[in-house]
Amino acid sequence: MVHSPAVSLAPEWLVVPEDPNALAPTVWPASAHRDAGDAISIGGVSAIELVRTHGTPLLVLDEAEVRARARAFTDSFTAAASAHGTTAKVYYAGKAFLSTAVARWVTEEGLNVDVCSRGELEVALAAGVDPSRIGFHGNNKSVSEIERAVQIGIGTIIVDSAVEIERIAAAAARAGVVQRVLVRVNSGVHAETHDFLATAHEDQKFGMTFADAEIAVARIREAPGMEFIGLHCHIGSQIFGVAGFRESASRVLELHQRLLAGGAIPLLNLGGGFGIAYTSVDDPTPIEQLASEIVAAVADGCAELGMSIPQLAFEPGRAIVGPAGVTLYEVGTTKDVRLDSGASRLYVSVDGGMSDNPRAALYGAQYSARLASRAGTDAPALARVVGMHCESGDIVVDHEYLPADVEPGDLLAVPATGAYCISLSSNYNHVPRPPVVAVSNGRSRVIVRGESIDDLLARDAGISTNEGAR
Ligand SMILES: *Cc1c(COP(=O)(O)O)cnc(C)c1O
Repeated sequence: MVHSPAVSLAPEWLVVPEDPNALAPTVWPASAHRDAGDAISIGGVSAIELVRTHGTPLLVLDEAEVRARARAFTDSFTAAASAHGTTAKVYYAGKAFLSTAVARWVTEEGLNVDVCSRGELEVALAAGVDPSRIGFHGNNKSVSEIERAVQIGIGTIIVDSAVEIERIAAAAARAGVVQRVLVRVNSGVHAETHDFLATAHEDQKFGMTFADAEIAVARIREAPGMEFIGLHCHIGSQIFGVAGFRESASRVLELHQRLLAGGAIPLLNLGGGFGIAYTSVDDPTPIEQLASEIVAAVADGCAELGMSIPQLAFEPGRAIVGPAGVTLYEVGTTKDVRLDSGASRLYVSVDGGMSDNPRAALYGAQYSARLASRAGTDAPALARVVGMHCESGDIVVDHEYLPADVEPGDLLAVPATGAYCISLSSNYNHVPRPPVVAVSNGRSRVIVRGESIDDLLARDAGISTNEGAR
């Protein structure tokens, strides 16, 4: 059969790299580079050594990168707030990735911590996070979760529905405390990447309409044992630019002003959602610029409404931990799939996949990849990195150019996997979840142990040795 000239399967945005071994600085941790043997090194530790010690798959978190990003958020928002005569608090959104080590790093850098389940709360407490520095989110906090949160003296609870008000009031009465709460509103602004959509009402589960929020705030203000400290709004995730924040803030500030008639409101929390670079075509706005533009927009909004600017709070998750994570896999098989059109794609199978990073399967997320144990020598070939699970949607990196000589036994590194990978991981196909190691100053240490086959079997009540544990 005669093939017509090859048609490329590459998407338009993907550029053929001059050097398929190069590490794009926007996508990789600042410490990442190729060492003398051309292996990728992160936090001063070579990928080869990391895998020799900890195996694959492996999530590597660069501690200095997490700390630097946490610091950049507090410094930038504090400076921007101070320029407008107010203060700013930054909460790390623990759902992006939470372990006691990460909770300690971010709190040592001055951040507070957001949790949205009993489990996340217990990790933060086990890390020794001061309960007054924890915020509790969620659209369905159970009575027992609320009890626990109020008992331990949690800083704030973000009320998501009217039902919660009585639950919190009852828990506060039992504990004999006054619980500080925010009310989450739905501003109708939903932002993602470069665009935002603004509607009057949004058909989604989080937050309250402005009308419902007014009623809720009035009830909270009357309720004994509760103190209303401000409104909360979170408009989405992986957002570039400030237009969505500006629109949302201007809407929420109008409600804030109306509510001032019933008493002072010290705080306004504008949520998280700051975008990161997953591939070299992403161009996130520097944190300093984001902070100064968002705070200036809030200050402008307040000036227009003739009110003073409240204290501000922000809740980045992805932007703190995402770029600090690199996942290492071992290549098991490669397959050149050639279509009748003449187009071809190199399938590179690795020893993990949607169980350790479901984002491509869940959201069609894009990633990049590089050979980690060596530099490739061949020209770039269009590749798709796939996992080892029984799903054709089990994709790790949908589109990437890799050196055509990538082969079984090579180590492959996928950057920007620090956020929403391990926290969304599963045991699909009874695959154990990988360990998480922190790298810092040339050393690695396990911060979350990997699962073993014994761990997987331990929960199966049909195995006789587990009977006692039932
Ligand atoms: C998920 C979430 C965040 C963090 O979002 P990122 O995109 O990780 O910054 C912050 N606040 C709330 C309420 C969230 O649900």
